[in-house]
This record gives sequence, structure tokens and C-alpha cells, in this order.
Amino acid sequence: MTDIIHLLPDAVANQIAAGEVIQRPASAVKELIENSVDAGSTTIKLLLKDAGKVLIQVIDNGKGMSETDARMCFERHATSKITKAEDLFAITTKGFRGEALASIAAIAQVELKTRREEDEVGTQITIEGCVVQAQEACSTSIGTSIAIKNLFYNVPARRNFLKSNPVETSHIIDEFQRVALAHPEIEFSLNHNGADLFILPKSNLRQRIVSLFGNNYNQRLVPVEEKTFIVKISGFIGKPEFAKKTRGEQFFFVNNRFIRNAYLHHAVQSAYEQLLPRESHPSYFLFLEVAPNSIDINIHPTKTEIKFEDEKAIYAILRSSIKKSLGQHNLTPTIDFEQEASISLDGPPKDRIIEAPKIRVNPEYNPFKTQTTFESTRAFNGPSLLQRANLQNWEKLYEGHQVSTEKSQEVSIETSSKQEIINPKWENDFSEVSKSLTYQLHGRYILSHIKTGFIIVDQQSAHERILFEKFLSNLTNHKAGSQQLLFPETVEFNAADTSLMMLLLPSLNDLGFALEEFGKNSFVVHGKPPLLSDADSKKHLESILEEFKKNQSELKLQTTENLARSMAYYSSIKSGKILSNEEMKGIIDELFACEQPYASPAGKPTLTTFSLEDLEKRFKK
Ligand code: ADP
Ligand code: MG
Repeated sequence: MTDIIHLLPDAVANQIAAGEVIQRPASAVKELIENSVDAGSTTIKLLLKDAGKVLIQVIDNGKGMSETDARMCFERHATSKITKAEDLFAITTKGFRGEALASIAAIAQVELKTRREEDEVGTQITIEGCVVQAQEACSTSIGTSIAIKNLFYNVPARRNFLKSNPVETSHIIDEFQRVALAHPEIEFSLNHNGADLFILPKSNLRQRIVSLFGNNYNQRLVPVEEKTFIVKISGFIGKPEFAKKTRGEQFFFVNNRFIRNAYLHHAVQSAYEQLLPRESHPSYFLFLEVAPNSIDINIHPTKTEIKFEDEKAIYAILRSSIKKSLGQHNLTPTIDFEQEASISLDGPPKDRIIEAPKIRVNPEYNPFKTQTTFESTRAFNGPSLLQRANLQNWEKLYEGHQVSTEKSQEVSIETSSKQEIINPKWENDFSEVSKSLTYQLHGRYILSHIKTGFIIVDQQSAHERILFEKFLSNLTNHKAGSQQLLFPETVEFNAADTSLMMLLLPSLNDLGFALEEFGKNSFVVHGKPPLLSDADSKKHLESILEEFKKNQSELKLQTTENLARSMAYYSSIKSGKILSNEEMKGIIDELFACEQPYASPAGKPTLTTFSLEDLEKRFKK
């Protein structure tokens, strides 16, 4: 018998290796931006088409490459960053494996243009499936521009495995944010399908956090600073009162490289002990600096997990430095709309008599008089008992003001309650809110009067919150309105989604679907939640499953919460939808009937307030 073992051709070997390094557009984005950072760029632009599936282009003003290097960089194990094994223990660059470009070139069409400062002309190279198609001189500015087209064009199995554009885009944004946080000194931009998602000027860390996550972060951050022999810690942590129900912004960087580390995460979480409401998570942006030879970054191909030599000591130092920062800063929350989710470190004033909360019973209360209506949410079950009580209470707060009195045509409240619970906080904050005055800004925000100024409600976040609580209640009470279909639809899924569908079937039915298993990976849809009456059921169910899977892998949410959240996100009113006055009032009403009105299920603020004082200040001479 002849020998049968042979070496794989480079193209095949690279394609196999690519599976490890490039799983999705986001992995390519990470590798390319990191290369630009390693090249000493001060400006890095990222352009995407269709979530990176069609195009990922990174343009930098770094040191560029010579004509030969431009060809060499696509070879496997070709790197300028290390030369000998010992270098592995003193890594100061992001890349060092020399695998990324070889992997990308094996599974995409790549166009590279690059020029060094010392060269008069640049070089341009086109490569497809590892084969160089052309290389020629070109005129281009100093730096490198690399365009990756049609990722996985020659690996259809992988291409089909990619998720929907929003999911892939969100993975890309995650990677982009991680590099952008680690390098506030570099100017970054991200443009997707012609729209600028981020434009981040050169700045410091605090400003970078704010430009990435929103202006309201500025007041939420507490600096952390600690220097020891073992580790130097710097960065910011979020004030406890802004902690989120879901894991929000939590970033560790070791030697400026984003990492995940459950053990260190625990150190942070435990420093907040007793400062946080149960099951809420603080934000943090923490940078650890350790001697490069005390860590092993080689442990994982995508390099987000690392091993420390001195893990226990680092844990202790991290925990105590966070405790110190929390203690040093005055963290007593001011009375504001966020207070609901906050803790107060001070007790009540000594001279105040403490009263037990009151439950007032209103014999006049008639639930059928509920006047708040809101088209899309009304179609579901009526609000929960507590919500209804709050809603009534909310109405009461408007007393003396002109309140819309249109009759609801479709009140689906089935039990009556004679209880009215007054929430003293809202009584203070929102009395004299003039509900008749609402205004929509840019199709995204709802502006409404309050006694002390005005509030701005984010329509999408608010509606997600409303639906989320509604769906959670549907899931616990096992009933929701359903719209029967005249002609039942059959929908088919792949094997993995079928098993997920089987798991979720009872819950989906609780949410207003009327689904039945039909064998062979298919299901019959007899009815749908009224909110989702348009378009086809397959699209709805697929999108909900997609959201669900994303939450499952990223947030490890429990099934019920995850499903309610996925459905709420999917079926909410989106930013950009023009709303009628009635609809806006409906949102405000229902938002304040929520148990947690201040944040979307994902933890985004639903509203923000502006006081008259703030306004007066702005109009001072
Ligand atoms: P690694 O980053 O691990 O070295 P890559 O495959 O990502 O491996 O890149 C190979 C080499 O190509 C790098 O070592 C670097 O010399 C060069 N290179 C890649 N991208 C750029 C860039 N944007 N600017 C300058 N040189 C680059
Ligand atoms: Mg690299």
C-alpha cells in the first residue's frame, strides 16, 4: 500500500485555521482595528456594509507597509511583532500570532492599499482565497486601507451560520467599543451603510466613555486609582445607584487588552456588597497593568481570557481599591428620577418621624373608568392589579389639569379592585405634570411638562419597559390576548431552533401565540399576539428566537425574563416612529404604571428630567 499522509495545501490549511480566528464579521473587525492600533495610527476609520457581511473596511494613518511586507502580511505566521519565543513573555502589541490576515485572506476577497511615510508611492494588492490576484503601485495616503469583501464567500456553511444583521452589527459594536475604550488617544469612527454610528474624537478615558455610552455617564462615574508592586489599577466604576438589572458596561483591560475574567468580576461585584439592590450589576471600566511576563495571553485563540501569576493578590487589591473609591466619593444619591433603583447610604434625618407606607382605599374607584388607552399595548391584557392602581394614582396626579377624557373602546380589565395604592414618591415628583402637553422630538423622544421643569422620555426604551412588564405578567398569569388566524400558517425551523421552539412553546402560547407542534421541525400557527398581527409568523418567531439566543449567550438570563425581554424589544415602538398625541400620553401613562419605570429592560434610561433651575442657568447673562 502506498503512503497516504500528505501536507495540506496552504489555502486549505489557512481556511481551517481561519475557523479559529475569524468566526464572524466582528472577529475580522477586531483583528483589523488592532492591527491599525499596533501600527501607531492616530485615526482609525471603520466602514461597514450589511453588518460587515458585504464589506469591512478599515482605514488608518499608521506606519504602513513596504511593497514586500504588503505581500508577506498575508502569509501564515507572518508577523513583525515577535521574532523569538521569549518575546511571547513581553508582548506589548495587540497581535503577535501572525494569523489574522492569512486567515482573512483565505475566506474573503481582500484589497489592501498601503504606504509608508518614506515611500513616494504606495502599493495595492488584491487577494482572494489566499491567491494574489494583482499587485501594483498606487497613489494613496500614508497608512493602510484594507477592505474585506464578502466574508466567507467560499465557505457557504459559515456564511449561512451568520446571524441577522442587527445581531452581527451588535457583535461588531462590542469589539469596536472595547478597542475604542482602550485607546481614547486615538480618533475612531464607525460608519454602517453610510450612517455614522460613532465619531469619537481623541480624548481622555472619561470623555471616551461618555461619547460611547451617552452623556448621562459623566455623572455616574467614580475614578479608581491604585498603584502596587503587583498591579496598577486605573479607570472608572459606576455609582451604585446606576447599577443595572442586566449586565451592562463591564470592561476589564489588562495591559490595555480587553479580557474576560469571572474571578476578577467577582472581586468588583463583591466590593459593592450591600450597596446594590439584589441582582443588579455595576458598570465598570477598569484597566489593570501588570508585568507582561506575569500573564499568559496565549491561552485562548481569540485572546480574551488570560491567566495571571498572582490572581489572588490581584483579587484582593482590586476589591479594596474599589471599596476605597466607593467610600471616598459622596455616593448619596440626590433626589431624582433614578432614585427608584438607588440605595441611600444615609439614614433618614433624625428629626423626621417615620411613617409606615399607607394603603388608601378609595370606595369610588371603578376600574372601568380607566381612561388611559394605548393602541398597541391595550390589545394585550389589562395592566396588573398593582399597575392599575398606580395608573389610577397617576391620573390623580393630574387633577386640576386638563386631562384627556376620551373613552377607551376596548378595556379588557377583568377583575375589579377597590384598592388604590398611593406611591408617595410620584406624588411629589409628578404632581402637576401637565399631561395634555406632550411633544415629539425627532420621532424619538417625548417631551412633557412637570412641575419642576420637563421630562424627556425615550419612546422606544419606555415602550420596551411597558411591554416587558406586561409580558412578564402574561407569562406568570398564563394568559394573553391572541388573534386567531383565518388560515393557519406552517413554519419550519432548523434542528437547533426547533429544540429551542419546543422549549419555549408553552411560554410563547402564554404570550398570545397559538402554536402547535407539527413534527418534522415544523409548527402550525393558529393565532398571534395582536401586536404582531402584521407580516408573517416565521419572521416574527425567528426574530424573537434570535433575540432570545443573543440574550442567552451574552446575558445568561433566565428563560422567562429573556423571552419577555426579547418579545418586548422586538415588538416595541421603534425610534423614528411618529406618534399621535394620544399615543404619547399612552406611553407616559403606562410607563408610570410600571413597577420600574426608569429603565428599559436592558437598563437604558427611559426618561430624563430637566429642572427649571437648569433652564434658568442657561438663560443667565
Ligand atoms: P499580527 O498582528 O499577529 O502580527 P496579522 O496577520 O494581523 O498578524 O498582521 C501581519 C502583519 O502585517 C503585522 O505583524 C504587521 O506587520 C502588518 N500589518 C497588518 N496590518 C497593518 C496595518 N494596518 N498597518 C501596518 N502594518 C500592518
Ligand atoms: Mg494582527
